Amino acid sequence: MTETMGEILRVALDVPVDGVFDYRGNGSGVAVGQRVVVPFGPRKQVGIVLEVTGSTDVPAAKLKSILQSFEDEPPLDSEIFALLKFCADYYQYPYGQALLSALPGRLRQTEPATTRKQFSYALTPAGMVAGVDAIPARQAVQRRVYAALLEHCSLNESALAEVSSCWRKAINALLENGWVKAEETFAGLRQSLTASSVQPELNQEQTHAVNAILAESGSFKPWLLHGITGSGKTEVYIRLLQAMLADNDGQALVLVPEINLTPQLEARFRSRLPEFPLVSLHSNLGESERLQNWRLAQSGAARIIIGTRLSVFTPLPRLRLVIVDEEHDTSYKQQDSMRYHARDVALVRAQRRNIPILLGSATPALETWHNAQSGRYGLLSMHERAVSQSQLPKVVCVDVSKVELRDGLSPHLIKAMRERLDRGEQSLLFINRRGYSPVLLCTACQWIAPCMRCSSRLVVHLRQGFLRCHHCGHEQKIVRQCPSCGNPDLHPTGHGTQRLEETLAKLLPEARVLRVDRDSTRRKNALSDMLVAVHAGEVDILVGTQMLAKGHDFPNLTLVGVLDTDSALFSPDFRAAERLFAQLMQVAGRAGRADKPGEVLIQTTFPEHSLFNALRRQDFPAYAVSLLHERETAQFPPYEFLALVKAEANDYSPVHRFLQYASDTARELGNEVLVYDPVRPQMERLKGMERGQLLFQANNRQVLQVVLRQLVPLLRAHPLSNKIRWALDVDPQEF
Ligand code: ADP
Ligand code: ZN
Ligand code: ZN
Repeated sequence: MTETMGEILRVALDVPVDGVFDYRGNGSGVAVGQRVVVPFGPRKQVGIVLEVTGSTDVPAAKLKSILQSFEDEPPLDSEIFALLKFCADYYQYPYGQALLSALPGRLRQTEPATTRKQFSYALTPAGMVAGVDAIPARQAVQRRVYAALLEHCSLNESALAEVSSCWRKAINALLENGWVKAEETFAGLRQSLTASSVQPELNQEQTHAVNAILAESGSFKPWLLHGITGSGKTEVYIRLLQAMLADNDGQALVLVPEINLTPQLEARFRSRLPEFPLVSLHSNLGESERLQNWRLAQSGAARIIIGTRLSVFTPLPRLRLVIVDEEHDTSYKQQDSMRYHARDVALVRAQRRNIPILLGSATPALETWHNAQSGRYGLLSMHERAVSQSQLPKVVCVDVSKVELRDGLSPHLIKAMRERLDRGEQSLLFINRRGYSPVLLCTACQWIAPCMRCSSRLVVHLRQGFLRCHHCGHEQKIVRQCPSCGNPDLHPTGHGTQRLEETLAKLLPEARVLRVDRDSTRRKNALSDMLVAVHAGEVDILVGTQMLAKGHDFPNLTLVGVLDTDSALFSPDFRAAERLFAQLMQVAGRAGRADKPGEVLIQTTFPEHSLFNALRRQDFPAYAVSLLHERETAQFPPYEFLALVKAEANDYSPVHRFLQYASDTARELGNEVLVYDPVRPQMERLKGMERGQLLFQANNRQVLQVVLRQLVPLLRAHPLSNKIRWALDVDPQEF
């Protein structure tokens, strides 16, 4: 039954059910895309108006009214609705939750979202006519501000602060004269006066890349820019942005994997592209700044938006170009709530907007590489380092089965570090975080200190004297005696970063060692302080995890030692080798970036492994051929499409029953999808929860989608659904 009863608002809410909710609008004048506060059960909720209509299926007596509306706020546009609807459907996630979680935190609160007012200033016609000589010579600051305004047309507060710290007094005097006018802007829209006009001449490969993309810049086309580290990919991005944003009011979205990468790229873009207002969007921003930046993007005032994963959902009314830097990076995949992959969402967005999208990487994801090989994406390759005198590093494997290690270090590596030390050059020791942490081992009975709550081992933190689980955070004191056999002599085994630091202090006492890992960089700005120290030459040996591998350029670094990677070569995760290769290419790229040749020493038991052979030649395509062949034989992505139901509870039995139900039901729904049996993942227990998972496999996305769309509502309706924790992961990256 449908009744007519005045203005009805159809509202999306952040609640874990599909569907939308109807409320009386009470003549609020709120428009589609705006926020309202509504009663929902006992609580107040923020919602987004999806539709303003005149009728509803809800009986009049049950229909509630909105509590508040925010008509002055700019509404969300239909493009974002459609994109999030697509994602909600594809990832089988409630639309309302998808929509609201894509908003900045301030917009998810039930209060009006305000930001501090900021102004930018420009000369008035009268001011321009007056000329600088009309200002008395003793008003030096006024004169400087005037000159800057004449040169730059309009300046905001941060740019004026670069002119003089006393700018405010000068501006007030100029405002009083009527020579300057003020206009409200946002703080996030930082301008910079320290623009760099040094524009290197593009080499042939770069020129080809830029021209190819520009030739087809008016419509949807995915491009893969495959270029080794230092080949000048960022320079290609800069030229494209210049060319595609000039002479129009277009916007570009640049996705980057991690916050830690943003400052360098941001600084480079700001100085090279000063004419385009730029904002960044990532979770390290304060809520207020995040909202401001988001609004600048939404209004079209920001022309370049640099952001991490979530920024793929930012409203951008004049989007013309999308760039995904380091497109293979795993941090593009969201690992909870809606488990979207930002690169894939960006591709969908570009397609719907009919604009080009550029994916850049030295080691593309195999999915992307496959698409570029099959011709679905345009492939642009850059083989040379852009700075000609910077050579590729020499990669050497040290067979550790043939030499004696001293606390995990081979004589070759120690000698190589000593040489660097003598020459005043820097070394980097790279440890893969997983599996290299020291554990407490009983050499008599092989007992290893386990975490009580996870299927993992506790990591020794010698200095603090405790054992910690790196999965759940559980901590306990180091035990002195083996609880299994009574052996009183327990030893830490394995090479954590801390342990290595101590070993180095013994072997190379004069070396200044800096450890860079999650522990040592916890403090805000710790990482950037450390990087400054490295650049200033205050460090001889860097010890670190993959945090160090990305985006940092150390000109004086000429040696990279890779300690132990063998477990990743034979991991049950079919993506482990692909990731190891990407990581090693990245760390190798750290060595010898300037005019000094670099060397990479890899300690391994398998020096002839095809991965190392490809690495030695920096030959991603060759390695990709062998990996793709393996994937095809094993029927893994990119040849097949996967989805995974993950479930966990205090006790495994309901998990198993739930997954068995899912498995049986899915089998009835369609025989084109291969449905496996429930299994326990490698990490059976995590944070005290017993875990299970169920894998689906199909040779095309559509048949998989058809089954999932029918299955998920049945799973939600299952009696165990609310008693255990479960989630569906479409295109899972971790198993
Ligand atoms: P990538 O993003 O592929 O790692 P970058 O764009 O950062 O590479 O370039 C590496 C270095 O080479 C940078 O210092 C950059 O300024 C420089 N560079 C890039 N292109 C050129 C060029 N055509 N001529 C001279 N130097 C260049
Ligand atoms: Zn023992
Ligand atoms: Zn644990």
